[in-house]
Amino acid sequence: MLERDAHPELAPRFNPDRSYTIDITGHGLRALRHIDATSYFDERLMPFRGLQYGDHVVEDWTEPGWTGSRGDILRALTALVTDAYENLVHIEFGCKVSDIDVHAGTVTYTPPGSEATTQPFDLIVGADGAGSVVRRALQEQISGFTVETTSLPNYLTVIELDRLSDQLDPTYLQALATRPFCVAGAIKGDEDSDVPRWFCAIGTKKTLSFDSPEAARRYLRNECPRVLDLASPKAVAEFAQRKCYHIGQKLLCSQLHGGSAVLIGDAAGPFPPIGQGVNAAMEAGMLLSESIVTAGDLSIGAARYDLQWKPELDAVSWISEKMLFENRIHTFRANLTMKGGINVIGQAKSSQKSYAQVRAEARRYGPLWR
Ligand SMILES: Cc1cc2nc3c(=O)[nH]c(=O)nc-3n(C[C@H](O)[C@H](O)[C@H](O)COP(=O)(O)OP(=O)(O)OC[C@H]3O[C@@H](n4cnc5c(N)ncnc54)[C@H](O)[C@@H]3O)c2cc1C
Repeated sequence: MLERDAHPELAPRFNPDRSYTIDITGHGLRALRHIDATSYFDERLMPFRGLQYGDHVVEDWTEPGWTGSRGDILRALTALVTDAYENLVHIEFGCKVSDIDVHAGTVTYTPPGSEATTQPFDLIVGADGAGSVVRRALQEQISGFTVETTSLPNYLTVIELDRLSDQLDPTYLQALATRPFCVAGAIKGDEDSDVPRWFCAIGTKKTLSFDSPEAARRYLRNECPRVLDLASPKAVAEFAQRKCYHIGQKLLCSQLHGGSAVLIGDAAGPFPPIGQGVNAAMEAGMLLSESIVTAGDLSIGAARYDLQWKPELDAVSWISEKMLFENRIHTFRANLTMKGGINVIGQAKSSQKSYAQVRAEARRYGPLWR
């Protein structure tokens, strides 16, 4: 495994600009059970029980689930690799991949402190995120491999809620406002502290920027006063300077496998956050592994994975368009369908239903989810 970043135990647990809280639910749960990793998540993440709005439970999560930062998730997974698979998996951290030849099956990478080197592999698994080098190589080198891009008006800026101690239950994600879309979530406290840290994602339909902390304070007071109550002046000042991310970029590949390369996770097709990015990435990894074991051959296994996962990825990507920030119709529909238990974003969390099933069922409601 060639990873550009440092070992997760050496890297910060979260990036303050992007430290939204991630929830691991049904699809991730299936993958974690598959590799026997749930105890590692129990140790390092917070339990997840659902969604609250205004102190009421609006979505109840009864299966095992967790919330945490991306760094906590990586720490849990690498600890499992160290404990159980150290002899089978060689990980090279701080090692950037620059080129792929998908026909020859070669990867060019630069190990830390060395020159670039090129090596052949039997199968190249591109798990290199939204800006994937492996996907770019497939697009350039495999005829008929196309990538469709969509840009949706979803922007996100993070604020830390450092005044939040025990006012809200940290085992729930906490909706604090619907327009802008404000959801707060807890991650475990820093070492030696039992007090969780809270981050709130503020979702808007336009880029958010402020020329002073006072302007940010005014915005919060007018648009989401509950957030302002829970943030110190320091947290508001940091929020005023924080980068606002365009998270509405969506990509769909025509296929996920070609030559000696296959794509999983965001590399295969990033979509706007609906609590499924990490879950779907882990499920894709599980499915690829199962397909290879069943086929008894890397290439046939990767092709089978492509056939099975592509409709799933298309479906979750479709679901991710159903909650655009500050969209009155989407907000109204979400409130209505959540009460009736037919909200597609809530249903996508289930370990019992595939994403394609959720989409097929939603289509029975005609124009509701169109
Ligand atoms: C605001 C926001 C909120 C989100 N909320 C949720 C949520 O609540 N729940 C959820 O499940 N998901 C959520 N997501 C999505 C989630 O973060 C991603 O979908 C998930 O991290 C994808 O996992 P991945 O392993 O495919 O890619 P990544 O996490 O992006 O990992 C890719 C890895 O590849 C490495 N890499 C990249 N290029 C190279 C290279 N050239 N050479 C070597 N290594 C390389 C990177 O260093 C990185 O470690 C959210 C995303 C955003 C932006």
